[in-house]
Amino acid sequence: MAGIEVLRLGHRIERDKRLTTHVGLAARAFGASKLYYSGDQDKTVEASIAKVVEDWGGEFEAVYVGDWRRLLKDKHGEGYLLIHLTMYGLPIQNIIDEVRRLHREKNILVVVGGEKVERAAYMMADYNVSVTSQPHSEVSALAVFLDWLQEGRELEKTYADAKKIIIPSARGKTVKRRG
Ligand code: SAM
Repeated sequence: MAGIEVLRLGHRIERDKRLTTHVGLAARAFGASKLYYSGDQDKTVEASIAKVVEDWGGEFEAVYVGDWRRLLKDKHGEGYLLIHLTMYGLPIQNIIDEVRRLHREKNILVVVGGEKVERAAYMMADYNVSVTSQPHSEVSALAVFLDWLQEGRELEKTYADAKKIIIPSARGKTVKRRG
């Protein structure tokens, strides 16, 4: 399998702080290596994600992009498959086999929107994909898409450099700390 990155469009500094951070945390936990975000630049989002990476491990980072169209063009030029998640798109269950096949060779950039997504995103995407044809959220759509893409393999992911590791338990909270 090739790599996975995520672009979150239209971040608004006042209203989306938690939501964009959660898009980043879902992207990381479900196997992506990077979050790009456009709209307002927000250092607190970048810092929140960096703090999680410092404690829980891995290489994930959040990177601001001023011109998301340019990013899509560049990624397309680098051979990435561009997947835009939207409730108006083709049902995930109908296209995921094809996407998985392509992902054996190609990196994927998954694009999720905010309040309103410009038409250019629909036009530039290789696939517009829906996770149900009902409105919900960028976090839920991203998590389900990444899980279906990887058929659950991401659930087993561990981080060799983690400072905090959870020892799963039936009740209570057990966290092992290193470093
Ligand atoms: N009208 C928007 C749309 O085009 O999907 C809904 C905006 S929603 C608040 C923000 C983002 O969540 C969307 O841009 C999309 O990436 C994601 N999203 C929401 N519902 C979805 C669904 N059913 N399937 C795929 N993505 C969805």
